[in-house]
Amino acid sequence: MSESTWQRRHVISLADFTVPDYELVLQTALSFTEVLSRRNKKVPTLQGKVVANLFFESSTRTRNSFELAAKRLSADTLNFAPGTSSLSKGETILDTARTFLAMGTDIMVIRHQAAGVPSQIALDMDRLGGRVAVLNAGDGKHEHPTQALLDLFTLCSHINPAAPSAKDIKGKKVAIAGDILHSRVARSNLYSLVTNGADVHLAAPPTLLPEEFAEYGVTVHHQLAPALEDADFVMTLRLQTERMSQHLIPSLREYYAQFGITRDRLARCAPQVQVLHPGPVNRGVEISSDLMDDPRLSLIEKQVTNGVAVRMSLLYLMGTLMGSAA
Ligand code: ASP
Repeated sequence: MSESTWQRRHVISLADFTVPDYELVLQTALSFTEVLSRRNKKVPTLQGKVVANLFFESSTRTRNSFELAAKRLSADTLNFAPGTSSLSKGETILDTARTFLAMGTDIMVIRHQAAGVPSQIALDMDRLGGRVAVLNAGDGKHEHPTQALLDLFTLCSHINPAAPSAKDIKGKKVAIAGDILHSRVARSNLYSLVTNGADVHLAAPPTLLPEEFAEYGVTVHHQLAPALEDADFVMTLRLQTERMSQHLIPSLREYYAQFGITRDRLARCAPQVQVLHPGPVNRGVEISSDLMDDPRLSLIEKQVTNGVAVRMSLLYLMGTLMGSAA
C-alpha cells in the first residue's frame, strides 16, 4: 500500500481528481477489504488520531460507515448531532468546528444540508494554521465524494473481482436515472465516471435534468428507454423531496410509471446488467421493491458493504499524509 502520490489535505469535491487519485483510493480500499475479511478486523494505522463526525444533516449509512471505518483504523471517534449540541443554543457552525479542533481533532468528516459548508470549514481551519483535514460527507446538492468513490469501487469490483482497477469502467455504459438536479451523488459520480472513461447517460424529466448537464460530457435523455438501451449498469437516485422547492413531478405514481426501474425495463439493457442505488430508497418510486432485493441484479447491499473499506481508504490516505508531513 503506497501513499506516495496522495497530496490532498482535504477532500471536498471530485472535480479535480485524477485517474491516479481514483486508482490509489481503489487499490487502498482493496487492501482494506482484505483486512475486513479477517477475524481481527482492526489495524493500528490511525492510533492516537481523532476523527470527528460532524453531521449537521441526518444520515444512516454514511455516518455509521465513517464511524466504523475510523474504528477499524483504531482512531478515536467523536460524534456530533445538531439536536443534542450547542448549535441549539445559537453557536455558529464555524465555532462548532473550532471546538472540535481545540479538542485535537485530526480529521473532520462533515455533512451539511447547505452546499459549501465543508469547504468553508476547511478554509477556516487552514486560516487557523491547524493541520486538520476536512472530508466532505455530502453538502446540499453539491457533492458526495465518498459515495461516488464507493460506487466506482463497487462497479470495478463487479467487473473484475480478482483485481479491480479504475480502468475497468472504461467504455462501459452507465445509465443514471432519477432526481439528478438535486443530487450530490449524481454530481460526484459524473466527475468520477467521466474521468475514468465510462459512457454516461442521464435520464429524468426535464424539470429534474436541465440540458446544462450535457456539459459534464454525458448524454442527456428525457426518456428512460434510450438511456437503458444496452446499459451495463443502471444507477437509480432518490427523489430528493426535501430539496424540491416546487412540485417538479406530477405525482410519485406518474414518476414511477415513466422513470421507475423495474425488472421488465431492464430487458433493454445488456444481459448482465446490475442496478445500484445510494440509499435511502423509496421502494416503488425510483425502483421496484423486488428488483432492489434481487441479489442477481442489485449491487445495493454491496455498495453499503464497500462503503466501509472505501472510507477507511480515504481516512488512511488523509491521516497518513498528515502524519508524514508533521
Ligand atoms: N444518501 C445519499 C445522500 O446523502 C443519497 C440520498 O440521500 O438520496 O446524498
